[in-house]
Amino acid sequence: MGTVKINREDVFDGQFSCNTSTLLDPEEFRRQGHIMVDFLADYFNDIEKYPVRSQVEPGYLKKLLADSAPNQPESIEKILQNVRKDIFPGLTHWQSPNFFAYFPCISSTAGILGEMLTAGLNVVGFNWIASPAATELECIVMDWLGKLINLPKTHLFSGGGGGVIQGTTCEAMLCTIVAARDQMLDKVGRENIDKLVVYASDQTHFSFQKAVKISGIKLENFRAIPTTKATEYALCPILLSKTIQEDKKTGLLPLFLCATVGTTSTTVVDPLKPLCEIAKEYGIWVHVDAAYAGNACICPEFQHFLNGVENANSFSLNAHKWLFSVLDCCCLWVKDPNSLTKALSTTPECLRNKATDSKQVVDYKDWQISLSRRFRALKLWLVLRSYGAVNLRNFIRSHVKMAKHFEELVAVDERFEIVAPRNFSMVCFRVSPLALQEKVIFVEEDQVNKFNAKVLESINSCGNIHMTHAVVGGVYMMRFAIGAPLTDYRHINMAWDVIRNHVNVLLKNLSSVASIG
Ligand code: PLP
Repeated sequence: MGTVKINREDVFDGQFSCNTSTLLDPEEFRRQGHIMVDFLADYFNDIEKYPVRSQVEPGYLKKLLADSAPNQPESIEKILQNVRKDIFPGLTHWQSPNFFAYFPCISSTAGILGEMLTAGLNVVGFNWIASPAATELECIVMDWLGKLINLPKTHLFSGGGGGVIQGTTCEAMLCTIVAARDQMLDKVGRENIDKLVVYASDQTHFSFQKAVKISGIKLENFRAIPTTKATEYALCPILLSKTIQEDKKTGLLPLFLCATVGTTSTTVVDPLKPLCEIAKEYGIWVHVDAAYAGNACICPEFQHFLNGVENANSFSLNAHKWLFSVLDCCCLWVKDPNSLTKALSTTPECLRNKATDSKQVVDYKDWQISLSRRFRALKLWLVLRSYGAVNLRNFIRSHVKMAKHFEELVAVDERFEIVAPRNFSMVCFRVSPLALQEKVIFVEEDQVNKFNAKVLESINSCGNIHMTHAVVGGVYMMRFAIGAPLTDYRHINMAWDVIRNHVNVLLKNLSSVASIG
């Protein structure tokens, strides 16, 4: 039996009769499904064979694939052969145990199978009636997860707030800015939009700026408050307060603060308690972006990082980053769902129904940007049930322990230095200026940065491991982020050997400042 037997042209030509059952023949689905599961299981078995960071040149794939889509059906076996031969070389293998770049985006059996279930059922739960279970399960798992990370009851459905699963943090930020914007403009008049000001730190993720831009707030009213080493690059409440006061003096309207728990560069945590208190004084909406680190708060020992969150209006984390839920799964909680739905709801006649009119149900289309939505709650439900809180905490703790181990390896080699405190499972380090001074006298910070950039490129080009970098306070650092699902101590030790070997070679070749490059 073939796969997809119909194609538009052939139907119009009258060559095939239009038998739609072949689009989703259960037995053929079973056969191909098994092939696909075997394919992925083999991939996970062999994953260490591949260079972690793709080594291809731009445009490589165009040279390998046909110019236009095939006219005739092709078998799944042939297509998967092409995946292995043509697509794999162009992959950076995020699930490789030797992947230490960015933040993790972790696959798990439960997460992958949850995605499969979502795709198989393929319901579109934009409102309750369109698939009641999709909405109700999402409400339930958002309360489950909220309780696990110890969010205040006020942010849960059971306490008058509520949660929604969106695709990304950027979407969550945009939705909450728009809710805050409309709440404010309803009070002061829409003509005052140009007076609205938003606050963040210079360490806040750049997607916040994108969200601000889309929301129509003037970019010159975006305050990226500088951070310093003195506060370990956390947002300083005194500076925030000063900035707000200056804005108020010039007649501007402070609107929104984005605080971060676990910044992207160094995983620093902004002090939520004082920040939220200042914001409250001025009626500013606070959103807490805990994209990566919020997941660690399922472990009680990390929950102190959320002290003060009770005064935040909204909070989000990416469960696809460090809660094994497979891209995409951004969980957003709001204290006042009405402010969100007031800004985002639409009620076209074609979607009117008794349940919505009764106001007894959640219609998630009014909690997000788009109308259509995937049944993402299924995979989160599978993850939470398949592993249980006990195992989920153990996974997170094992990543943190491995990060501590790596930190100890770095600390005992005096050619390296840790450049930011480690809060979670990421270590920021560099080759120290002292190591260079043994070879080259009078090394400037810029040269130390250049040398470290050279080290990182050399490591990433070899394909054995993959790390990325950050520049904070003028210091170029390598970020070693642990969390891939198959990573073990063996990989951490091997990574450290790789790093030291590259540094040894580059230091050996260093004869003058000019040789740094
Ligand atoms: N916020 C933080 C702290 C992040 O680390 C990231 C990505 O790594 C983001 C936001 C952006 O997330 P998204 O891609 O889901 O918009």
